[in-house]
Amino acid sequence: MKRIIFLAMLLCWSSACLAANGAQPPSLAGRLFVVDPGHGVRYPDGSPLNVGAVGPGGYEEAKITLAVAEDLARRLRAAGARVVMTRSYAKPYRIGTVIRVDNRARAALANRLGATAFIAVHADGSLDRGRRGTSVFWLRPNSAALARAVRAHLAPLGLGESEFHMRDLAVTNEARVPAVLVEIGFVSNPAQAQLIASPAFQEREAQALFDAVAQTFAA
Ligand SMILES: [Zn+2]
Repeated sequence: MKRIIFLAMLLCWSSACLAANGAQPPSLAGRLFVVDPGHGVRYPDGSPLNVGAVGPGGYEEAKITLAVAEDLARRLRAAGARVVMTRSYAKPYRIGTVIRVDNRARAALANRLGATAFIAVHADGSLDRGRRGTSVFWLRPNSAALARAVRAHLAPLGLGESEFHMRDLAVTNEARVPAVLVEIGFVSNPAQAQLIASPAFQEREAQALFDAVAQTFAA
C-alpha cells in the first residue's frame, strides 16, 4: 500500500490529481523563484526596445508570456513559495537600452536573491508558419532536472516538441541557480497562437510549469 501511494505521488503532481489520491499538495515553503516573462522592454523614453514575437492576427508573445507567468507565480505562491517577477501585471514593462544587458539582468536577479530556480517564459516565432511545438533550453548541469521535468509536463498539452537541448542564451549563461527558458508554443503558427492566447489553455501551460517545478523542488 505504501508503495502504491509512493508511485501515485511520483506519477501525479497536479493538485487535482493529488487531491484525488488524498495526498497533500506539494509544499514549496521556503523556496524562492524568479519568474521571468520574456520581452516587454522599453527605452527610457517609452519607445519599444524588446517587444518579442508578434504572430499573424496580432498575437503578442510579450502579453502571452506575462499571462502564463503571472498564473505560474500565483500557483507557486499558493504552494507556499516566494516569487519575484522580472515584470508583472503591476509593472508590465522593463526599462532598458540594450536587449542582452536586460536579459542578463533578469537572471542576475535570481543569482543575487539566491533563488531556488529561475524560469523564463517565452513563446516562439518563425517565418515558417507551420513550425510548432514547445522548447526547453538550459545550460548548466544544475538545471537539467528542471528542464527534463518541464519537458515531461508540457508533453501532454499536445503542442509537439520543437527543441530540447543545452543552449547558451543570455539568461542561461548568466544564471548560476537552476535556470530554464521555456518556449510555450509558436505565436507565428495560427493554430498554436490561438491556443496559447486563450486563458483556458494558458492555465494548462501554467499548471504544467508549476507541476514541473513542484516535482523538482517540493519538499
Ligand atoms: Zn521570446
